[in-house]
Amino acid sequence: MTAPKPQPGILDIAPYKGGEAAVPGVTKVHKLSSNETPLGPSPKAMEVFKAMAGELHRYPDGAVEQLRDAIAGHYGVPADNIVCSNGSDEMISLICAAYVGPGDEVVYSQYGFMMYPIATMARGATPVVAKEKDFTSDVDALLAAVTPKTKVVFLTNPNNPTGTYISAAELRRLREGLPDSVLLVVDAAYAEYVSRNDYSNGMELVASRDDTMMLRTFSKIYGLAALRLGWAYAPANVVSVLHRVRGPFNVNAAAQAAGAAALKDTAWLDKARAHNDAELARVTAALTKIGIKVVPSVANFLLMQFPKGGEQVKAADAALRQRGLILRGMTGYGLPDCLRLSIGTVEEDDMVIAALTDVMKA
Ligand code: PMP
Repeated sequence: MTAPKPQPGILDIAPYKGGEAAVPGVTKVHKLSSNETPLGPSPKAMEVFKAMAGELHRYPDGAVEQLRDAIAGHYGVPADNIVCSNGSDEMISLICAAYVGPGDEVVYSQYGFMMYPIATMARGATPVVAKEKDFTSDVDALLAAVTPKTKVVFLTNPNNPTGTYISAAELRRLREGLPDSVLLVVDAAYAEYVSRNDYSNGMELVASRDDTMMLRTFSKIYGLAALRLGWAYAPANVVSVLHRVRGPFNVNAAAQAAGAAALKDTAWLDKARAHNDAELARVTAALTKIGIKVVPSVANFLLMQFPKGGEQVKAADAALRQRGLILRGMTGYGLPDCLRLSIGTVEEDDMVIAALTDVMKA
């Protein structure tokens, strides 16, 4: 007997591992491993979610009209150019399903998000890595990685797990250096956190071309990770393709309703942003002071490089876990001397600083 065989390449995929959420023997944990917001979702989104309970027997709106209208109104773009998805993870898979096949290549930068190679390999295609410079995406390296087989370039901006970004001018230079046949996907999952005036989430490129799209998520600053809600702003030709490959009801009703409510609650967004601005600066300064190299971040997380390497990372991780603090190991990204910290509450950040101060003194 022969067992069913998956498509070539599938068994080469290393399954995605999410941030851990438990420490054996520790009852009170602080999950700082998945770049979630410490403030939680908007109370208005929670109310809407609760009110959905009586409607669970109904299919969601397959066209996602109200939410797409809300997004379009918020950003001043046509609703017809918005496609929603079950998290932006799903959109990454849909893009690969539609544009990538065996023999094709997909380019992304060295420390780019793990879902790009996974979704690429799921289609029998080859992920191609472009080296970064100083933990920052390098436009020249990305362009040099492009071959006639390249179908898609994924750029996370700001990047995860580094927290760095490339400027609007660099983003434009990337687009202009790519063949028009290559789809550029700007994954702006952390865009709301960025407060630099030379940053662009890529929207103006999407508006003026038919080969560039932007991804966003409600999982990060909006605090709706559990509901799985992402969206893309894309030119009409790409929208038309994505609608053909998505499931008919790929966005659940609770996500649609809570997402629209969260978008309206701009005061909650401002609060989340202000908290992050203050904590990002404070934690960066405190960790730098005790001798950890902190990559300058514009997002809601910090990549920390330990001067004594992997052994010190293990000691740090153990000391943090003992206090219930779970960060993200970076070995999977080829950075065994690093840990990534998602910004938490003031109390959580203080606990991290205290634990790491002890480790650095040891
Ligand atoms: N892109 C990036 C850069 C991310 O960091 C994440 C979340 N880890 C995602 C996409 C996926 O987010 P979602 O929860 O919307 O699937």
